[in-house]
Amino acid sequence: MKNFGIKEALAELGLKKSNPGVSTGSKWYRSTGGLIDSYSPADGKLIGSVHGGDEKTFDKVVKQSEEAFQVWRTWPAPKRGEVVRQVGVALRKYKEPLGKLVSYEMGKSLQEGLGEVQEMIDICDFAVGLSRQLHGLTMHSERPNHRMYEQWHPIGTVGIISAFNFPVAVWSWNSMLAWVCGDVCVWKPSEKTPLCSIACQLITARVFEKNGVPEGVSCLVNGDATIGQLMAQDERIPLVSATGSTRMGKAVARTVSERLGRALLELGGNNAIIITEHANLDMAIRGALFGAVGTAGQRCTTTRRLIIHDSIFDEVKDRLKNAYAHLNIGNPLDTGNHVGPLIDKTAVKLYQDALRKVKQAGGEFVVKGGVLQGKGYESECYVKPAVAVVENEYEIVQHETFAPILYLIRYNSLAEAIQKQNGVKQGLSSSIMTTNMQEMERFLSAAGSDCGIANVNIGTSGAEIGGAFGGEKETGGGRESGSDAWKAYMRRQTNTINFGDNLPLAQGIKFDI
Ligand code: NAD
Repeated sequence: MKNFGIKEALAELGLKKSNPGVSTGSKWYRSTGGLIDSYSPADGKLIGSVHGGDEKTFDKVVKQSEEAFQVWRTWPAPKRGEVVRQVGVALRKYKEPLGKLVSYEMGKSLQEGLGEVQEMIDICDFAVGLSRQLHGLTMHSERPNHRMYEQWHPIGTVGIISAFNFPVAVWSWNSMLAWVCGDVCVWKPSEKTPLCSIACQLITARVFEKNGVPEGVSCLVNGDATIGQLMAQDERIPLVSATGSTRMGKAVARTVSERLGRALLELGGNNAIIITEHANLDMAIRGALFGAVGTAGQRCTTTRRLIIHDSIFDEVKDRLKNAYAHLNIGNPLDTGNHVGPLIDKTAVKLYQDALRKVKQAGGEFVVKGGVLQGKGYESECYVKPAVAVVENEYEIVQHETFAPILYLIRYNSLAEAIQKQNGVKQGLSSSIMTTNMQEMERFLSAAGSDCGIANVNIGTSGAEIGGAFGGEKETGGGRESGSDAWKAYMRRQTNTINFGDNLPLAQGIKFDI
């Protein structure tokens, strides 16, 4: 089988067959947390192993991060930004091997793997600019000779829990912003993609060392949910930013709120595109196709539902069927393929269960699914993208199945379409395909989409880093990346200064003796 330059990529990134999985920067620790084997869903081969952390090493790492924070917070923000700029330069250098590793360990296409690294580079650039723009407001005081303003300070150690499907970008969205804000980070990556985390830590550590960044600003603790829960419980970690399933988010939120910490949650989606009778259908089909099968349906923003106007329903259905017939499914490193594997066999089972439930509920398959077998599919993780006509109310349609299953739903009025689009528990991404101004504005109005992301003539996936990313309802309410998402990583302080000779009280209260 073709190697696709994986061996060379692993060597360039400094990855070994067996790797320590806990680090505070340039120091690495072996611990007793158990070995995590990383198998590629592309070919089923063992890529390498990582030693996970345990309670003791986790404690040691958090202590080191606290010490580092004492120093890092005193560095001027633009100086911290300069370090992040250099991380961006290093990522440019390693874009190709890191993109390949993302593709090989996670299973997304090489194009998407490279795109994920590009997203890291973009967020570095964004964070560098931000390091000179951590602005607070000034307000007019109601009292004479008083001045009032607010400033933003770093909060301390930020815990980052990340999901397998964006094994490097989600960490960078959090850490680059947190670092310019003056925070230090402890990262608990997904146990399904541990090698990506080691590669990121190695790249960052070299830059940090060269710049004299204190040991503990960038920390990594590999492991499973046990480490995630240690993080959620730990009072030394004021902010836990967690990306993953709604089930995980609820568990983390419960634990963090118990100690009145902050949780930034980026959870599951159940995203829909409304295709109106005024849509440009060429664009609509392309947007729906990439949204539904890109990353084999394993994006939080994957298009799971198409809500189609009755007058064009059959045409859209037929064109999709035709487009699906031209999809190449296979090794994600082979640029001729559109769809790669699911992450593991458990995901394949969940996909099969979902197909069964669609059928039981009365769904009608337009494109049949199924598990692929034979040459090139030895990992047993490859499935056929499926399309089914369903009702929005089916129990299975209400859930996020992390696989390429697209549901087609019919509507007659825009109000009905919006009601269906909003009629799920998740609230991440949404879009409308239309050339009609009234339809567009209604969809974007307060009575329109209830999601954190609402697009027009663009699919539901593929957000840019410049906007705040996240969603409502069971998606968790968090916002990351662009706009003013940085505020989540800082604490706000209101300062009032009296430069007069009296002590007037607010609200004109008299307290004379
Ligand atoms: P997952 O919930 O199984 O795991 C995510 C992370 O949480 C992992 O690191 C895991 O070890 C950890 N974890 C699991 N249970 C935990 C617990 N009880 N306490 C603490 N940590 C725990 O999710 P996954 O399968 O890796 O990723 C897929 C899910 O992530 C999908 O639901 C997808 O929509 C979601 N996701 C959301 C976004 C977003 O920005 N909204 C981005 C990417 C992925």
